[in-house]
Amino acid sequence: MKECLQSAQIIIQGAGPVGLACAIWLLQSNPDLELVLLDKNTQSDDDLNHGDTRGIAISEGSKQLLNNMHAWVDSAPAIHQVHVSHQGHFGRTVMSKDEIHQDALGHIVRYRDIVLSLRKQLRTMQAKVKHFTWLFDINNDFDMPSLSPEVCVIHADGGLFHEQSAKDIHKDYGQSALVGWLEVRDVKPHMAWERFTQGGPIAILPHHQGPQAKNFVWCAPVAKIDQLLSLPEDQFLKELIQAIQLPIGKFLKVHDRRSYPLGLNMRKHIVQGHEVWIGNAAQTLHPVAGQGLNLGLRDAFTLASCLHTIYARPSSNRAQDLEARLLQYQEQRKQDRQATIRMTDLMASVFTSNFFPLVIGRGLALSALQWLPPVKNKLARQMMFGQR
Ligand SMILES: Cc1cc2nc3c(=O)[nH]c(=O)nc-3n(C[C@H](O)[C@H](O)[C@H](O)COP(=O)(O)OP(=O)(O)OC[C@H]3O[C@@H](n4cnc5c(N)ncnc54)[C@H](O)[C@@H]3O)c2cc1C
Repeated sequence: MKECLQSAQIIIQGAGPVGLACAIWLLQSNPDLELVLLDKNTQSDDDLNHGDTRGIAISEGSKQLLNNMHAWVDSAPAIHQVHVSHQGHFGRTVMSKDEIHQDALGHIVRYRDIVLSLRKQLRTMQAKVKHFTWLFDINNDFDMPSLSPEVCVIHADGGLFHEQSAKDIHKDYGQSALVGWLEVRDVKPHMAWERFTQGGPIAILPHHQGPQAKNFVWCAPVAKIDQLLSLPEDQFLKELIQAIQLPIGKFLKVHDRRSYPLGLNMRKHIVQGHEVWIGNAAQTLHPVAGQGLNLGLRDAFTLASCLHTIYARPSSNRAQDLEARLLQYQEQRKQDRQATIRMTDLMASVFTSNFFPLVIGRGLALSALQWLPPVKNKLARQMMFGQR
């Protein structure tokens, strides 16, 4: 394996959605690339087939990116309208696809479905390229050998907040997310609700099984989520209805409850010499605004575009060219990263605070969004497309 890594042009460490997408884009633009992908999973999809079912909100911008690489998940339900409100306080806003002249505001895809779809597409490409090596069963104590500065190392080994070591900005919100899905009746299809409650935000989202099911994400203090996890079904549903207090429809059953600790963990500098960090390895965010994966896919796409020409032709000083190009990439990603991270951190902090001026402020902010369409459209566009 050591020789294989040392003779590579690019190594991607981590084969979550961002690492896989980056590999596909790199090979799409340069089929002769000597690329190695280090995957913690097994070669077979068996474990992934029973893996992470959390519903991820994919923006229209990300859908376009995934469509272009033939990795879109067709069963993903569309969101046509989002209702954002705050329990017990004034202020609400409704965003709809028609206001911004799009087919949808976004889609919901299960984490495992997106990984499986990207793996499928990468396998299809693998059959057509000569120098791509996909190594499986890479565990955490894997030690990267010393490499020439001509080899670009892409860290896409993000993982979840609690699995990571602290980066430059590390903030534990003291919250976990409880995710799962509900069997429902009389609930509007293609509609999503984000409800800010005293404990944290709760999202009710479309589900791939159709209008009789909804995904949910419930963020609250860790102890509360631990308690919710172990509650019998009927009590859990009662608590959920009580926490939301909105006439959404009937919640009949709950399935597949799982919890995820939440925090912000980000690198200020995402490039160091010939190494670069993307996706959750560069920034791990609170899911309140549904932006982590969307931002990570933009990282991967921009990086693949930046690296496109570096290995496509001979160079007398590749190490220097690579370093310069990676610094360009860092600069290109600055604005989008900053805007997305700031917006997410602000939402995670402000909407869980009970400090009176903030309570008033967020009510006003939601009302302002409703009554100032240009502001609302600008926010919607940032969330849907970021800044590419
Ligand atoms: C509850 C919850 C809800 C979310 N909802 C949304 C949402 O609605 N919209 C959105 O855009 N984002 C959402 N996110 C964020 C999103 O899940 C992440 O941003 C996204 O998964 C990042 O992808 P990634 O490939 O960078 O990292 P990961 O998905 O973490 O994948 C990294 C991969 O690298 C592997 N790995 C780790 N260490 C190593 C190693 N040493 N060597 C090799 N491989 C390694 C890991 O096992 C994993 O397979 C949510 C997150 C949570 C927790």
